[in-house]
Amino acid sequence: MNDTITAIATAPGRAGLAVLRVSGPQALPVAARVFRGGVALAAVESHTLHHGWAHTLTDARRLDEVVAAVFRAPRSYTGEDVVELSCHGGRLSAERLLEAVVASGARLARPGEFTQRAFLNGRIDLAQAEAVADVIHAESVAAHELALAQLAGLLSNTLDALADRTTDALAEVEARVDFAEDVGGVEVPPHVVALIAAVRGDLDAMLASAAWGRAVRDGVRVPLVGRPNVGKSSLFNALIGEERAIVTEVPGTTRDRVTESIELFGARVTLSDTAGLRESADVVESIGVARARGTIDESRAVLWVVDGAMPLDSADEQIAVAFAGKRVLVALNKSDLATAITPRSLELLLRDTRWSASVLVSAARGDGLQELRELLAQLIEAAPAAD
Ligand code: GDP
Repeated sequence: MNDTITAIATAPGRAGLAVLRVSGPQALPVAARVFRGGVALAAVESHTLHHGWAHTLTDARRLDEVVAAVFRAPRSYTGEDVVELSCHGGRLSAERLLEAVVASGARLARPGEFTQRAFLNGRIDLAQAEAVADVIHAESVAAHELALAQLAGLLSNTLDALADRTTDALAEVEARVDFAEDVGGVEVPPHVVALIAAVRGDLDAMLASAAWGRAVRDGVRVPLVGRPNVGKSSLFNALIGEERAIVTEVPGTTRDRVTESIELFGARVTLSDTAGLRESADVVESIGVARARGTIDESRAVLWVVDGAMPLDSADEQIAVAFAGKRVLVALNKSDLATAITPRSLELLLRDTRWSASVLVSAARGDGLQELRELLAQLIEAAPAAD
């Protein structure tokens, strides 16, 4: 960390502003060599702004009008001396400025290197460093807020408190081992056992909420699978609320995946409508079937759409084999027609799943969709499962 690094901190493209960051022991002299304003940049106070022009080193050609923000160590993002040069956005200003700053003695930063330095210098801990990336990549308000809480130190504080309680328990146990005669034996007293049990309970609760955190952050892919013509496309459309997948009366015509994300209780669910799972001689459809199988293998959770008006058959049995160890939500579609499926026959096919539930829906009429959404949230572990 003895060298001085630089990078364009803003996204490329046409914009009002771009920001170039310089960090390291030579940040001020490096920036001062390209900067011309009313001040000697290397000598200014920390946390001050300076207007001027950036120039090339070799022929002193103007590069852009800039504002330099100076943060001296250790009160900066990285904990080192930092200069942030704001120039105009667009393709050339920041790139030419970057060239000049590199010519002046800085090296190009690797991705994440500023945050790595902030971590190594003790400005932020690991949970906060991870949160920086999550804030930048958040795609839903819930994911953004979760990342901000982590950045503000919520996870770190919770972990620190758990570590403190564990240390307290350990100190008590060690004291008993070291001074067994004075305290009357090495028996661990009940309040220490209770303390350890409480820490364990809190850790279990944190782990249980991790699946929810993951669902919020990354979103969960849920493929809709099932025999052709059971109503997958219709249900997909009903859930996303627009006519994306093509509904058709010919079995096996949903040949490709159609993917769309919806937000359920703050978590992102990416639904994909797959080709009907059915052994088929038709080459095009069998490609679709292979993809659907691949999708099930890739997924933790699937939405199995079944035509509730037709008895389960051998094709359903073949599909069910692929569900072993998965979380499966069954949508018994066409509830507007007479039911032909017994709960027992369904249970039998779901016996090897890790978690399962079923719900009666009618994609055509829009019946049962709210319950389906609630069970979908349970399917992706974004809501506690009902007992
Ligand atoms: P996919 O092949 O599984 O994607 O099935 P589609 O969504 O293309 O639907 C197949 C057929 O079932 C179409 O004729 C739909 O109109 C019909 N269908 C879908 N949902 C329902 C429903 O809830 N009730 C009834 N009666 N028919 C439905």
